Amino acid sequence: MQISAELIKKVAEAKKVCVLTGAGVSAESGVPTFRGGGNSAVWKGMPFDQISSARMVKENLPEVWEWFDYRRGVLKDCKPNEAHRALMFWESRLRENFLLVTQNIDGLHTQAGSRNIIELHGNIQRSKCTKGCRLKYEMLPTEIPHSPDICDLCDAPLRPDVVLFGEMLPEGYFEYAVEFANDCDLFMSIGTSAVVYPAASLAEIAKKKGAFCIEINPEETPASYLYNESLRGKAGEILPKILQ
Ligand SMILES: [Zn+2]
Repeated sequence: MQISAELIKKVAEAKKVCVLTGAGVSAESGVPTFRGGGNSAVWKGMPFDQISSARMVKENLPEVWEWFDYRRGVLKDCKPNEAHRALMFWESRLRENFLLVTQNIDGLHTQAGSRNIIELHGNIQRSKCTKGCRLKYEMLPTEIPHSPDICDLCDAPLRPDVVLFGEMLPEGYFEYAVEFANDCDLFMSIGTSAVVYPAASLAEIAKKKGAFCIEINPEETPASYLYNESLRGKAGEILPKILQ
């Protein structure tokens, strides 16, 4: 893999960086992509988009928890990889001028030490109140199955802190990412086809404002035309080379 000197220079000189990550980064840690199964992904006879839905939380919360505990179990042995670590290292250099926006819910970026992070779709290792108060609860990856809890504040049952089918993104999350992408000088998209709205629009926003845009993905994506440079390969191999 040939990485241009211009790209290395842009990365080294970037003062404000916005990075978007998707399933590809997790896949390098062995995380299965449930979404990749599309409608064919089924759990206990239920299609993925049915068991992972807002309606199901209302109708059968214990079943939702059973499914999410199963998924947490699958994740138990998945560890952050070189890509997660490289991004944490990048953040440690730029601090508040580095924002990581992820579509992944596995919590591996946080486990790797990333702090300036927006988990657009939530985090499977966290629960929140069904009444919608602001309290969130961390679960240990080892607590499987966890014991279903109630909110300390509202006495309401807790649910996974993950954006389900039929739900909007948490208020303010995407808006903050947009604001950041608006005046970053380098934007990078990693391991995502970025066709899922609204994450896809971040690259467009950054590009429009003149940021240097880099894509890292094994295959060409529908959004590849947006990027100044597209690197084909594994993020865990490419990122450490770019950042060395
Ligand atoms: Zn509550």
